[in-house]
Amino acid sequence: MSEELKPCPFCGGEARYNRKQISQGCVLVGYDCEQCGAAAPVFTGPVAIEKSMKISAAKAWNRRTQQPNELLTVDELRKMIGQWVWVESKDVLCPNGWYRVEPQFRETISLAGVDGTIYETSITNGDSAVYRRPPEEGENDES
Ligand SMILES: [Zn+2]
Repeated sequence: MSEELKPCPFCGGEARYNRKQISQGCVLVGYDCEQCGAAAPVFTGPVAIEKSMKISAAKAWNRRTQQPNELLTVDELRKMIGQWVWVESKDVLCPNGWYRVEPQFRETISLAGVDGTIYETSITNGDSAVYRRPPEEGENDES
């Protein structure tokens, strides 16, 4: 049983399945657009449950294609625990990429990288910007 994939909201391109081995017996899966690279949240877990992760990833792609890619606020992130977000950071210790929102919330937010490392970063002082997906070229320009 497979989820029918919607076309990319930006260019109408087809969704492409990505699969990356991240450690022994563990994979990262997700969909992105074949043409423009717009990506949906990714899932990680043991190879044994790849099938169900693939279905979750397809659902995430279909959901994500309908949401605008505005900058996420702390309040929004509090409701997104366990979900994957795209982070662009000035903090050298927290490289740009996908992170999972962790349940511990203080002044800073905790994010788990794809390798499981936990990062603490602040989005209120401008150190990091958090998006639902990687911004398009020029999408976060001031002009
Ligand atoms: Zn596209």
